[in-house]
Amino acid sequence: MTDQERRAQLAAALAEVNGRIGRACAAAGRPADEVTLVAVTKTYPASDVILLAGLGVTDVGENRDQDAAPKAEEARAAGATPRWHFIGQLQRNKVRSVVRYADVVESVDSVRLAEALARAAADRPEPLDVLVQVSIDGAAGRGGAAGDELWRVSDSVADANALRLGGVMAVAPMDWDPDRAFSALHALSERLVKTHSGATVISAGMSGDLEAAVRHGATHVRIGTSLLGMRNPLR
Ligand SMILES: *Cc1c(COP(=O)(O)O)cnc(C)c1O
Repeated sequence: MTDQERRAQLAAALAEVNGRIGRACAAAGRPADEVTLVAVTKTYPASDVILLAGLGVTDVGENRDQDAAPKAEEARAAGATPRWHFIGQLQRNKVRSVVRYADVVESVDSVRLAEALARAAADRPEPLDVLVQVSIDGAAGRGGAAGDELWRVSDSVADANALRLGGVMAVAPMDWDPDRAFSALHALSERLVKTHSGATVISAGMSGDLEAAVRHGATHVRIGTSLLGMRNPLR
């Protein structure tokens, strides 16, 4: 496929996704500009990030540092500087690399990770935006702070000068109705905002469930497949 053809394909998919977001906002009685699209470009090349940025996409998401670091560099060299969201499980030995290109880390789920990020981000000119990833069903293993851990991680992020607590992020559990999952997330967000008034971000909703997420107050939706196409299932 030529660059022109890929651009047309991405433009059509983007129009479709923006239409879905617009209709979901209208149905929820919310202004469409309340919801930011994060294009999840994982497994896709820097050339797609560059094309999407040219089509007006302002935010992109990546889940592996070893892919994201060179991709961000390549995009920047081509003049594409979207906001980079790190959305994957993050090992503490990768934080030094991630703080160099990420604008937002959405997947902070432990006090130890928050502390490691705070140390690594100390030299940044601007604080690093952080979302606390929540495990909605309380299950361990797939990432996300469960139960009272959410409040401990949030306090730790809020206390760090190099970090700015933006809000919460979650993935709906596979075996849950998305409305139930995102309504639970919304309730946790409301509790968080009571003690951290600036932490208003709710990053929720993917290709399959963005409508439910928007119904329950999502401010950011993370869309991969519907924009870029199917990924290799091994990744
Ligand atoms: C891959 C990924 C997405 C995008 O999922 P799609 O179903 O492809 O839209 C969103 N959030 C996270 C955390 C992801 O890893």
